[in-house]
Amino acid sequence: MANIVVLGAGVSGLTTALLLARKGHKVTIVAKHMPGDYDIEYASPWAGANSLPVAKPGSKAQQYETDTWYELEKLATNLPEAGVHFQNNHIYRRAKDADSAVGDWFKELIREDAWFKDVLPNFRVLDKSELPPGIDSGTGFTSVCINTALYLPWLASQCLKLGATLYRGDISHISEAASLHHFGSLAKLVINCTGLYSLRLGGVQDTKLYPARGQIVVVRNDPGIMCSTSGTDDGSDEACYIMHRAAGGGTVLGGCLQAGNWESQVDPNLAIRIMKRAIALCPALVKPGQGIEGLDIVRHGVGLRPMRTGGIRVEKERIGDVDVVHNYGHGGYGYQTSFGCSLEVLKLVNEVKLIQRIAFIETMR
Ligand code: FAD
Repeated sequence: MANIVVLGAGVSGLTTALLLARKGHKVTIVAKHMPGDYDIEYASPWAGANSLPVAKPGSKAQQYETDTWYELEKLATNLPEAGVHFQNNHIYRRAKDADSAVGDWFKELIREDAWFKDVLPNFRVLDKSELPPGIDSGTGFTSVCINTALYLPWLASQCLKLGATLYRGDISHISEAASLHHFGSLAKLVINCTGLYSLRLGGVQDTKLYPARGQIVVVRNDPGIMCSTSGTDDGSDEACYIMHRAAGGGTVLGGCLQAGNWESQVDPNLAIRIMKRAIALCPALVKPGQGIEGLDIVRHGVGLRPMRTGGIRVEKERIGDVDVVHNYGHGGYGYQTSFGCSLEVLKLVNEVKLIQRIAFIETMR
């Protein structure tokens, strides 16, 4: 078993660390931000988070989403303490959104013959009578909604239980991470789960990364259903989605997908549009006759999705003297791909260990 440093404590780093620790590896998690923090440089707490498959058929991401679904389903079924629960979900399609930024994001999600119809349970095409005004068609299926305020600490606790350690650190070059293992000796491997900040991390500096800003409103109101539309009339990159988090996590109203926008502050006009659209789509959020004044706001939030041209990067690379396995660039789908990507990391870790063992034998000859 290897001494491994996982750099990053978002959903990617913590899930990867957990699977590595379950295999018996000695894991140190090093991160600038930890569960409990809310920061623009830390995407994971801001996510809804639900599982709405968007991968293209035949892509690696399709495998990641499929593998992850079965793990999330197990958590929702067996482990209430993880903060994951099942939700009845509707996806609404408007024909006019086909060429918009959000419409493009939802291309696979809104199909009536979606590839995941035999993966996520209870998939069906909605009857016309079930569609809100202005919607052309829709599908329904069972998904999950994750209370990120419970789930991230739960992941961290599971890692601690298995002997992993968590350590605050702000690394400027990936090679520094190898010297931070809690055993004191140089780690055999570093797993890079730094999300969007692999754009700036020395030794990596992946210029394919860019942010897609998301703004949300968390409210106490209960919508009774999880739902999303393929677009809105307020701009190509504005979205409307509603999800009720498990175990008192409130309801998340979103949102937008503003590519290239690094703004960390809440746009108050957008916040009003988000709330108005949510009530128009799901009037049950408020009492009859009420508008946004009927929403009981917990907080407004902004997060940056770590988008990457070419998709998620799960790859091994030797950087200087350090063997690195990358796991970053999860865009708006980091929760719904988390277990699948981490399983792929496990395979690459085994490959790197084999290469290291062969190299060691060579030096003994
Ligand atoms: P992060 O959560 O950003 O974590 C990165 C970690 O790396 C942090 O711990 C950070 O401190 C650390 N780090 C970075 N650089 C350094 C450094 N140099 N030194 C030390 N530490 C460093 N996904 C879904 O699946 N479902 C959803 O419903 C969903 N909804 C979303 C809604 C919004 C509004 C947003 C913003 C995102 C949403 N996402 C959703 C996407 C999801 O949140 C991200 O894909 C995911 O959180 C990325 O996780 P990560 O661990 O890769 O990155």
